[in-house]
Amino acid sequence: KDLKRKGLKQANNLARDFFRQVLQRHDAAAPARQYLAGRGLTPEVLERFQIGFAPPGWTSLLDHLGKKGYRPQELVEAGLVIKNEAGRYYDRFRSRVMFPIWDTLGQVVGFGGRVLDDSQPKYLNTPETSFFSKGRTLYGLHLARQPIREKGRVIIVEGYMDVITAHRHGVTNTVASLGTALTAEHGKLLLNYSRDIIIAYDSDTAGVAATIRGLDLLLELGCQVRVITMPDGKDPDDFLSKHGPGPWEELIDRAYTLIEYKLQQAAARGHVKTVADKTEVMRQVFPGLAAKSGVQKEEDLKTIARVLNLSWETVAGEFKRFEENLG
Ligand code: ATP
Ligand code: MN
Ligand code: MN
Ligand code: MN
Repeated sequence: KDLKRKGLKQANNLARDFFRQVLQRHDAAAPARQYLAGRGLTPEVLERFQIGFAPPGWTSLLDHLGKKGYRPQELVEAGLVIKNEAGRYYDRFRSRVMFPIWDTLGQVVGFGGRVLDDSQPKYLNTPETSFFSKGRTLYGLHLARQPIREKGRVIIVEGYMDVITAHRHGVTNTVASLGTALTAEHGKLLLNYSRDIIIAYDSDTAGVAATIRGLDLLLELGCQVRVITMPDGKDPDDFLSKHGPGPWEELIDRAYTLIEYKLQQAAARGHVKTVADKTEVMRQVFPGLAAKSGVQKEEDLKTIARVLNLSWETVAGEFKRFEENLG
């Protein structure tokens, strides 16, 4: 059984080698080379992240690995090949830029494949296999784990390109949760390296929702979590490509705590100017405060007062009334 597992994993390493050769040499990969260069990926970066291209044919990888002794059904189990209802086998990934996904030791366990245009789905991932589980894998961790230990902090982003661009700019303590669903498994994995976690998800609706879920989940695990917000609709790749690492590090240093983030979100939903606005924001954040320690409560009330431009006494008074109404 273990031997078989090793063989299936090895198929993913061989597939990576194949996709890389295609990217480097094939005529069919010319648009992919141009696309990647256009996104700022130099040959060194392509090398470091082992990026490749899946050719347009239906059985290119199937044929290539077939010659190396892999049976079609084994490649299905490895997540690389699909069997249709008529019993025909064909390559899962076609005409896509291929991002290998590694385990913590740097062995390839799966792929994300991106189209070159606006067609859907934008990314296609390896399905769950005997050795790949999206909810337990963090993209880039094998490259980031030493930097995370050295810097005592980890930054979680959503996507492949966010990780690559961050590393390219020297922010090497960055990993991705491959989409927006952070799991307790991810959190425990990170705790092996650092408790100080920064969430830097996309600033679109999906990213904001995932940030709030991720915050709660990580706080529950005992992590120290803060959050970065970027200007409208942007992701870390966009931000770093436009502004460079200096402004990015500043965003990290000024990252929000949970209470600051919730305040900022509440404020972002409308202008906080009138008494009614300020009362509404307090109504939204007070429930999260009720269970906290005295010291933490006082800190949070100070933050609320600062953000709402009110005196601490006023905010504390409002909170006292809120607590009395609870009891
Ligand atoms: P790009 O910058 O190349 O457009 P992105 O990373 O900004 O890509 P998002 O749409 O923000 O793309 O998605 C974030 C991440 O979520 C992706 O990098 C990928 O890991 C994952 N993802 C996105 N779309 C899909 C999909 N259709 N299926 C599976 N995973 C996806
Ligand atoms: Mn997004
Ligand atoms: Mn994005
Ligand atoms: Mn992006």
